Amino acid sequence: MLDIHPIPAFSDNYIWLLTEGTKNAVVVDPGDADPVLEHLRCTGLRLTAVLITHHHYDHTGGLDELAAAYPELRVYGPRDSRIPGLTDQVGEGDSIQPSGLTTRLDVMEVPGHTSSHIAFVGDGKLFCGDTLFAAGCGRVFDGTFEQLSHSLERIAALPADTLCCCAHEYTLANLGFAKWVEPQSKALTERIDTDTQLRQASKPTVPSSLALELSTNPFLRTQDPGVIAAAENFAGKRLSTPSEVFTALRRWKDEKYD
Ligand SMILES: [Zn+2]
Repeated sequence: MLDIHPIPAFSDNYIWLLTEGTKNAVVVDPGDADPVLEHLRCTGLRLTAVLITHHHYDHTGGLDELAAAYPELRVYGPRDSRIPGLTDQVGEGDSIQPSGLTTRLDVMEVPGHTSSHIAFVGDGKLFCGDTLFAAGCGRVFDGTFEQLSHSLERIAALPADTLCCCAHEYTLANLGFAKWVEPQSKALTERIDTDTQLRQASKPTVPSSLALELSTNPFLRTQDPGVIAAAENFAGKRLSTPSEVFTALRRWKDEKYD
């Protein structure tokens, strides 16, 4: 059984900590080493491995310092020369057992936010970096809109009880945009209430279940008639594929909301 715990970093990042009831710990996307080292010191845990989803500095910036503190550290990440310090390059179809854990994690290639973005999924948990956010998704940097749309479709096909371990606390802002897309949604109104209370209590809104994302995240709802109509209204034309609907939604949020 994999236990998960979000370590806050910077202003709105989460570094996910994975443990299994032993002294061994794994972290995902340590953009900053300091909060990780502090957490390990307080809990008496030993870092055995790091998982990296993509090359952005707020996900990798702590790697050097963690590798210096733990010389045996294994670092798993995508095949991308922009990420120095990996010990294990992994891709689609790989199944890894991170050093120090017994749980196996499958690697999914989920390009779009970046061209080489990967996600790790196992024991009902998805570590999705900046691909999927609670009630939203990542921006398109050096991937393409079509890639991100396809990657999100693959994530949407995972079991509905999968817990989505997102890398940022963007939920309330994302829900505001979701409400633009589906102003009549009761599921959204309920989620806004719940997540607003969590934030007022300084608690994270993640992980969220994939089932909740499927009912409230517009970027996973590109086949819903109401979402399609809202996207077409923004685009000013008919949109015939989920990828076209996704692209219109992402551009709408980029240009008018963020
Ligand atoms: Zn990123």
